[in-house]
Amino acid sequence: MSVRVGVLGATGAVGQRLIQLLDPHPEFEIAALTASESSAGRTYRDAAKWRVDSPIPDGVADITVGATDPDEVPDDVDLLFSSLPSSVGEQVEPEFADAGYVVSSNSSNARLADDVPLVIPEVNHDHLDLIEVQRDERGWDGALIKNPNCSTITMVPSLAVLDGFGLERVTVSTLQAVSGAGYDGVSSMEIIDNVLPHIGGEEEKMETESRKLLGEFDGSEVEWHGMDVAASCNRVPTLDGHLENVWAETEESASPEAVEEAFRDASGLDLPSSPDRLIHVFDDPNRPQPRLDRNIDDGQGIAVGPVQETSDGVQYDCLAHNTIRGAAGASVLNGELLVDQNYI
Ligand code: NAP
Repeated sequence: MSVRVGVLGATGAVGQRLIQLLDPHPEFEIAALTASESSAGRTYRDAAKWRVDSPIPDGVADITVGATDPDEVPDDVDLLFSSLPSSVGEQVEPEFADAGYVVSSNSSNARLADDVPLVIPEVNHDHLDLIEVQRDERGWDGALIKNPNCSTITMVPSLAVLDGFGLERVTVSTLQAVSGAGYDGVSSMEIIDNVLPHIGGEEEKMETESRKLLGEFDGSEVEWHGMDVAASCNRVPTLDGHLENVWAETEESASPEAVEEAFRDASGLDLPSSPDRLIHVFDDPNRPQPRLDRNIDDGQGIAVGPVQETSDGVQYDCLAHNTIRGAAGASVLNGELLVDQNYI
């Protein structure tokens, strides 16, 4: 069975990654593309400044981009992937859900809303059933689900493993790639030969989204995890791949060897885009590195360096491809989960 899908915000950095992942997808068929009014009415080839590392797919290049409006998307499209600016998503995503579409979104709006599932399939797929609460409360035939921010996704799979030892406190410092800011996000004059020690709103996203993701869902609401999370976020001049330095304090003592073994044993899922192994652990203290390791398992894997014992708990570095595992690939995995769980 092939599910007809659309992409909202198809011309942007994440939208282009979505096209790259969806075009060869075994379950999904691209049937609608939307963007801003300035792109609407143009062919995708003309509207998108194609910048990902494979040719623009033939079957997509000649599709006419529509306006981002439920009336512009065919009724037989069942699933929409959204990579809109959050200010736009906030307004239009509920309109699409109300019109009967299921929306798997990257945008930060509504990630913390009580009735919106915030999901990483390997971490908290059970939270998907919050859709039932959402439909009851909002009267929607469709649904809205979110994947977390790219920097949050990079660390949370390893934190989910550490929670087996009782997570109490997490401290994280990030080195985030420029693609995380979108195509118009950071100017070359700002970022070349430089590091920007602040990314607006990012620290708060890491501190809140990780607690919701690791929270307990009791069938009606998610009780957030009680751990403390402190984040400091930095933009660095790499193109793709967020590297993060994590310190984690746990209730039970956890030796570096036990943590590495638990990382290696972290179980994945069997969705079409699931990585072969969720967490790849390196023995080399000089890894992971963005240029060498961001494409691990087609960009869907999480790479982790050796674990060390410190006075602030265990310390390790982790890395993920921010526009694949951290954005487009995360939404596609959530779309696959929606199909697997019969929400599509
Ligand atoms: P981007 O490169 O700026 O792309 C934005 C997309 O939204 C474009 O297709 C743009 O179309 C469209 N758009 C802009 N204004 C619109 C409007 N008023 N109505 C309809 N469409 C409009 O941004 P991005 O980096 O892809 O990010 C997209 C979303 O994903 C954001 O919410 C971001 O926070 C989130 N996200 C990004 C990353 C990442 O690594 N980049 C990671 C996680 C989450 P036009 O081309 O026509 O302007």
